Amino acid sequence: MLAEIKGINEECGVFGIWGHDKAAELTYYGLHSMQHRGQEGAGIVVSDGKELTAHKGLGLVNDVFKKAKFEELAGRNAVGHVRYTTQGGKVIENVQPLLFRTQTGSMALAHNGNIMNAHQLRGELEDEGSILQTSSDTEVLAHLIRRGGQRTNETSISTALNQVVGAYAYLILKEDRMYAALDPAGIRPLSIGKLGDAYVVASETCAFDQIGATFEREVLPGELVTISDDGIEIRRFAPRGGRKLCAMEYVYLSRPDSDLNHVNVHASRKQMGVELAKEAPVDADMVIGVPDSSISAAIGYAEESGLPYEMGILKNRYVGRTFIQPSQELREQGVKMKLSPVRGIVEGKRIVMIDDSIVRGTTSKRIVKMLKQAGAKEVHVRIASPSIQHPCYYGIDMSTRKELIAANNSPEEICEIIGADSIAYLSERGLEQAIVKDKTINQGVCMACMTGRYPVMENGETEINYTKC
Ligand code: AMP
Repeated sequence: MLAEIKGINEECGVFGIWGHDKAAELTYYGLHSMQHRGQEGAGIVVSDGKELTAHKGLGLVNDVFKKAKFEELAGRNAVGHVRYTTQGGKVIENVQPLLFRTQTGSMALAHNGNIMNAHQLRGELEDEGSILQTSSDTEVLAHLIRRGGQRTNETSISTALNQVVGAYAYLILKEDRMYAALDPAGIRPLSIGKLGDAYVVASETCAFDQIGATFEREVLPGELVTISDDGIEIRRFAPRGGRKLCAMEYVYLSRPDSDLNHVNVHASRKQMGVELAKEAPVDADMVIGVPDSSISAAIGYAEESGLPYEMGILKNRYVGRTFIQPSQELREQGVKMKLSPVRGIVEGKRIVMIDDSIVRGTTSKRIVKMLKQAGAKEVHVRIASPSIQHPCYYGIDMSTRKELIAANNSPEEICEIIGADSIAYLSERGLEQAIVKDKTINQGVCMACMTGRYPVMENGETEINYTKC
């Protein structure tokens, strides 16, 4: 049974580097390029070969790290993390990497994903006498690794990984080595790069470009990678299965300049737009995209349909998370902080408005209203992904089924709720077409939030069609 998790939202990013004089500083730049994956907290742990040192804080990477901090973080090896809470509260104890000290050495852990059986494992650990410090499910893995007094090594890590069920990309740092592991279905992304003689591991390849590293290969499902001064060793802790990389990484989450599974994110989004234009054409004057994540799909839709692509909505880049939100009175007067319609472009026009996805329906409703208020004659909403009707258990902020607008309303009802003139979603086939270039074992995608077919269940079973959550 999949229990619904209220307020899921973990779209964390992990970064690790082994064997570079500027390990902490490069980790900072790597994390900065993945800031979109988590804005609630950031942290870096370095190893100088003898001990581990951490610096963490709540907020953006820039707020947590100032230049002087890098001198205090001496060492040629580091792991870092940007956090967006899934499980556990928004408190400093939960900011990663988590650092554990024992008499036989230290270990730092950074995690992107969601452990579905964390509650059960936590209970078992507590029954055995473990006292956990955080409400983060990541801490559970550390306890499993050390269970029964084991040292942290390939064997104890593999044993621990075989007890957790869910989606995960882990980085583990010890004094003398770094480990990287990916869940057996490869739901979350994780890649290996090189910078001179140094090894780099990151959730997204945009982090490699940021620091001038070159992409080497992806960590494949069920692989455990060990990196030390002796080089790199790759083994598996789980049998080879088919990959199920999260489709939402392509649709919304990852940066357009990243490549996932050898497919560029911008190119895949553009193709989603192309497929959408083929499936759901509109007689209109222009195509516009909701900045930023829908621009690529809007360009694809425009190219395929032959309609001009226009900048109908503007995003104010200076609206940070701490920006003072307008009072209800000003909001009603139409003060919009983040997105504004370009009146001179949309007035009197029939518009195709592309958005990458609809979750609760709040964004589409707000934008359609805004465009109509600016004088748009018609607004046809085209969504560059299939409708999201099922919760995500693998670490994406997808809310509960109750809050998903498409789980409770037909497309016609949604069209009416958001005030659009028409609405259409990309088909499952269209999405797959845009992402999967090569139908080999490693190229599959997880579309559970759209199809209800969950590749991994809490009890460890795989590929179950679970539509009644
Ligand atoms: P909603 O307003 O709830 O329908 O959310 C849909 C909008 O949020 C779209 O414009 C997406 O770009 C964006 N979005 C999609 N998935 C997520 C997510 N997991 N976390 C945050 N925003 C998202």
